[in-house]
Amino acid sequence: MRGAILHAPGDIRVEDRDRPTIIEPTDAILRLSAACVCGSDLWPYRGQDDYGPEAAMGHEYVGIVEEVGGAVITVQPGQFVVGSFFASDNTCEICRAGYQSSCIHRQGVGGAQAEYLRVPLADGTLVATPGLPDEDLIPSLLTASDVLGTGWFGAVAAKAGPGRTVAVVGDGAVGLLGVLSAKQLGAERIIAMSRHEPRQNLALEFGATDVVAERGDEGVARIKELTDGLGAHSVIEAVGTQESMMQAIRATRPGGHVGYVGVAHDVQLPGTDLFYSHVHLHGGPAPVRQYLPELIDLIWSRKINPGKVFDLELPLEQAAEGYQAMDERRAIKALLRP
Ligand SMILES: [Zn+2]
Ligand SMILES: [Zn+2]
Repeated sequence: MRGAILHAPGDIRVEDRDRPTIIEPTDAILRLSAACVCGSDLWPYRGQDDYGPEAAMGHEYVGIVEEVGGAVITVQPGQFVVGSFFASDNTCEICRAGYQSSCIHRQGVGGAQAEYLRVPLADGTLVATPGLPDEDLIPSLLTASDVLGTGWFGAVAAKAGPGRTVAVVGDGAVGLLGVLSAKQLGAERIIAMSRHEPRQNLALEFGATDVVAERGDEGVARIKELTDGLGAHSVIEAVGTQESMMQAIRATRPGGHVGYVGVAHDVQLPGTDLFYSHVHLHGGPAPVRQYLPELIDLIWSRKINPGKVFDLELPLEQAAEGYQAMDERRAIKALLRP
């Protein structure tokens, strides 16, 4: 089968790989309907994370179950399924508390920019859709696998809801879907922080009420101006840098909540600032599995259209162009068709 391999920073190639097979009786093999490039794939692509030589890339996926191991009972061949980037048993105490991405049996799912994918712990990880989806629903269902689930967790962790003002730091796919999630959760006012017009427009379409183009100190000052000098009740941090994390904390009012979902890279929190900020911090790798049934339902009933974050669609063979376009911020998110 064909699959994307990162050979070295900037060097993505689609080449022949062994087709995955059932290893554990709890595995499923999927024939992928669509895959995509994640903002977090850009860290190793830029050489800022080391994935080792010849890494099979991709962790966001939807597809049709091709084969299941002998112990799998909840999904069967022929079903269309969505799963998360972390496989989980969905039965341990941590899973039952809603933190499947910290499951005690957690396993990474990798190599999803390909034609076929092995998913461990299939019963706990995969959720079947009510039937085979219409073609136009596939991009939205694919977002549920990571970026929508992650934006949703950011909004939940930031306690977005009625009567609250939510600010979103980061205008990548996760930040934009954090806006959509905050809207769904009933937030009264949603401030998107973005300097890029196409992304500002998509944020407004997803439910943002205000756009702030400034960042850093100026961005914090603008959020305060818009909130009677208090700061937002809820801030979603969807970048993962020192600047974005401090911007999120400082834009939150005392007693407010920061939901941080950008994968942290060299973030150091100053204890004294944190102490006097009086903010709640909650975040981490999103427990996407917890939200999948609800998100699939919202997509299936066409109440939300998160697939709009894909502004570039390419055949899998042209994965390298997808990485390059996202790296250069020419594209928000690239969908790959195997
Ligand atoms: Zn991802
Ligand atoms: Zn578990």
